[in-house]
Amino acid sequence: MSKNKSSESVKVVVRCRPLSRKEESNGPAGGIVQMDLRLGQVILKNPRAPPSEPQKTFTFDAVYDSSSKQRDLYDESVRPLIDSVLAGFNGTIFAYGQTGTGKTYTMQGLWLDPEKQGVIPNAFDHIFTHISRSQSDKQYLVRASYLEIYLEEIRDLLDPNHGNTRGLELRESPETGVYVQDLTSCVCKSIKEIEEVMNVGNQARAVGATDMNEHSSRSHALFLITVECSQPGPDGRKHIRVGRLNLVDLAGSERQAKTGVQGDRLKEAAKINLSLSALGNVISALADGRSSHVPYRDSKLTRLLQDSLGGNAKTVMVATLGPAPQHYDETLTTLRYANRAKNIQNQPRVNEDPKDALLREFQKEIARLRAQLNHRRFRSKQKKEQVDGEAWERDGDEEEEVEEEEVEKEAEEFVKLEEQRLEKENEAIREDQFLLAEEKQKLLGENEKMMGDLRKRQEATEQLTARYKAMESKLLVGGKNIIDHTNEQQKMLEMKRQEIAEQTRREREMQQQMLIQDEEAVELRETFTSLQQEVEAKTKKLKKLYAKLQCTKAEIKDVNDEHVRSRQELEQTQNELTRELKFKYLIIENFIPPEEKNKIMNRLMFDPEEDEWKFKPLVPDESKSSQMKKRPVSAVGYKRPISQYARVALSMGTHSRYRAENVMLLELDMTPPNTSALTDGEQNQSPTLNNFPTNDKGICKSRSWCQSQKSITSSSSNNSLVGCQTAAPAVAM
Ligand code: ADP
Ligand code: MG
Repeated sequence: MSKNKSSESVKVVVRCRPLSRKEESNGPAGGIVQMDLRLGQVILKNPRAPPSEPQKTFTFDAVYDSSSKQRDLYDESVRPLIDSVLAGFNGTIFAYGQTGTGKTYTMQGLWLDPEKQGVIPNAFDHIFTHISRSQSDKQYLVRASYLEIYLEEIRDLLDPNHGNTRGLELRESPETGVYVQDLTSCVCKSIKEIEEVMNVGNQARAVGATDMNEHSSRSHALFLITVECSQPGPDGRKHIRVGRLNLVDLAGSERQAKTGVQGDRLKEAAKINLSLSALGNVISALADGRSSHVPYRDSKLTRLLQDSLGGNAKTVMVATLGPAPQHYDETLTTLRYANRAKNIQNQPRVNEDPKDALLREFQKEIARLRAQLNHRRFRSKQKKEQVDGEAWERDGDEEEEVEEEEVEKEAEEFVKLEEQRLEKENEAIREDQFLLAEEKQKLLGENEKMMGDLRKRQEATEQLTARYKAMESKLLVGGKNIIDHTNEQQKMLEMKRQEIAEQTRREREMQQQMLIQDEEAVELRETFTSLQQEVEAKTKKLKKLYAKLQCTKAEIKDVNDEHVRSRQELEQTQNELTRELKFKYLIIENFIPPEEKNKIMNRLMFDPEEDEWKFKPLVPDESKSSQMKKRPVSAVGYKRPISQYARVALSMGTHSRYRAENVMLLELDMTPPNTSALTDGEQNQSPTLNNFPTNDKGICKSRSWCQSQKSITSSSSNNSLVGCQTAAPAVAM
């Protein structure tokens, strides 16, 4: 699986946008960012500091100033990465920076102007041009997905009803690493199609947000492209390489004000930058190199980018800056962040023949469809030849070798001929005078059926062909669409441009190395001819070192200040949260009964995967089925638990209707209506009532009720049951 075990660091480039018109009119002329393109350095001026304070200098893999072109950034810093993706590596480009500094401009740019197209459209162009120019023995499959992370929820931007559904879940598999479950993925056959996918996603993003600016500065957008390439290897078998490209436009890195908000707003504020601060922590942990734990699991973004940061991927980070003096602090933070990311080491390797390659599935399906189709056509052809009276001599193995188109043509011919033959037969039958009407009808019916069968078969073949063609068209074959093959000049031009970009990069690297060596060469092995000379040289060295010391001191102070500030902010957030918690406690203590609270507490459990508290199911999942099946102890041998009375009644063999049921038998009240007794006076009361005196004269209790009350005092005694049985039959029957 691995081709290249060597590790390489994350490439970090910095881009500064021009001053906007508003900024130009507001502040003092000029920005606070200066760039040395040759050395790849950014020099930052503090607008509030005294002029004597040394300026801050940062060195990166490349820097792009306000006059830089989209194309330059792409050719120099992104093109090599896309080439790697096409060769089967994983690649990630992410844009990081404050809102309004040009992240979206860098990633997407202005679509309609070819000069101002950003990284993503240029990458589309690059990928599909590469495919069209590659050799014809290569097959490609390109897929695209688009998602955003907003308030720690993953939304599929290509799913038309993503707004209604809950966020998607992250899953992890040993083969592909972390992936998003049920994410829509579109197979794209051309630049136009993939642009369409991008547009659909962008629209979904805009629709989902009430205030686009606000939304886009708080959500992370990830455009994912998977390029699978199949190519015959030296062993003659087809090998598949899968390159995955993540194009990430991060949320604005500016500090979100968390203070002074409560309730839902507080929760939201805490979540907005969770992914970004987690990203910062991951970068710090990786850059540090000493910490054993990298907190990838703290946020969705870091889990998704796990491979890109310290894993199996090549990564380019584009940090964007604004030149305006009022954003000095944010700009400095961005530069520090980017500077740290330089130290991350990745271990990219080619993904060869992964188990989940979709291309292989496609190839298998296409082969299956083709075999099916050939078989059908072949059978038709065979039949035709039989009809033609030709002897069939070839054996079955030749099936594959027969020219596909020839077979197809012959099959079609056969169908036509067969139809004509049946038509003719029908004619003949109709005209035949010797046949009975009945027979004619029968023969015609048979022919009709044959015709129907023929048509059905043909339809099925057509459907199969359509499916086969649709499937096949999804695979892009190298060497086709050779429009630009003819345009050799353009190709040469591109190559030259690439060469120049490569050269500039190498030159810059050399310059940077020289600079480092220069600084490190403290031990000057020089021989001084005079004391004076030595003093001069050493003074110069001392000055240099002193300046460096001052810089470092200032840096330490800055970092300390920043730590203090962020600690204060954290404390403030903590205070807010504590207050919120106290409020919730108050409600619980005063308004929820303790037993209810305990019940809830016992059922709660924390799901670290989703970072949420959840209720345990009342019946544990795994034992649910077994518990449902288990019979109650009291039901041994019976269909359901029954009382002893019913059991005895069962053994006595009473009416089947009451079998196994605990039914009390009541005798009908046979006393005559006592209205007359009431009119006659109290002396004429019925003798039955006299036998059973009651406390209340108005209430008339039935005899059977009284009897059964006497006899069923203990339902467990057999005697009483028998008594009851004997008293009951009149009613029960
Ligand atoms: P973000 O995505 O970082 O919030 P945008 O990409 O939306 O910022 O950029 C804000 C504005 O600045 C846009 O109007 C964009 O056209 C402009 N802009 C950004 N970078 C550049 C650049 N390098 N050259 C010219 N204009 C730029
Ligand atoms: Mg943006």
